[in-house]
Amino acid sequence: MTKAQEVRPGCLGRILQVFGLQTKAQPQTERFPYRLTDKFLSAAELSFYHVLRQVIGEQAVICSKVSLGDLFYPQTGDRSQNTSYRNKIDRKRVDFLLCDPQTMTPLMGIELDDASHKRTDRRARDEFVDGVFEAAKLPLARVRAQASYAPREIATQLKQAGLGKSPAVAEVPLEEPPLCPDCGIPMIVRTAKRGPHQGEQFYACPNYPDCRQILPFP
Ligand SMILES: [Zn+2]
Repeated sequence: MTKAQEVRPGCLGRILQVFGLQTKAQPQTERFPYRLTDKFLSAAELSFYHVLRQVIGEQAVICSKVSLGDLFYPQTGDRSQNTSYRNKIDRKRVDFLLCDPQTMTPLMGIELDDASHKRTDRRARDEFVDGVFEAAKLPLARVRAQASYAPREIATQLKQAGLGKSPAVAEVPLEEPPLCPDCGIPMIVRTAKRGPHQGEQFYACPNYPDCRQILPFP
């Protein structure tokens, strides 16, 4: 139970208040019962964000959890229709948005799709969001959430989804991953699940667990 809930009188408390029996014992309701979330990004979102930052570099600004209502507007020529179309997008968000660093013009949306995206209700939502992006001609990339990412694959996927077509991001710089000192193949980015470095990212050999080579992530 959060602190905000604790100060709210329960059902019984409210009845007692009505009869004037508990007015003094009840703590004051806070005027601003707000707390800062400690999970602005989920672990999966944070892990992908770091890879995205590595792939995108300084070429674009990465925003997260952007309301579709701030990105798009309906244009039907009819006020009440506009309102109902606006209501359809107001409370939906795109996981990540890439913007031009100079003008902050939106360049591309990115959805990180986890297992929940296979649910029927979620699929309907995804299809709707896809349609909105397509209608407004803003590219949208769907990236499958994974335990680890190959930055090169992410860059390729973003380009295929249309990032390269934007004049602002003519060429997404590819930070080449280091080669495994033992196997000689490109390493992948992983996130430490436990231990003193929990949550931190590092380069690991794709041949894990046969090869346990790791290197620091920049
Ligand atoms: Zn290796």
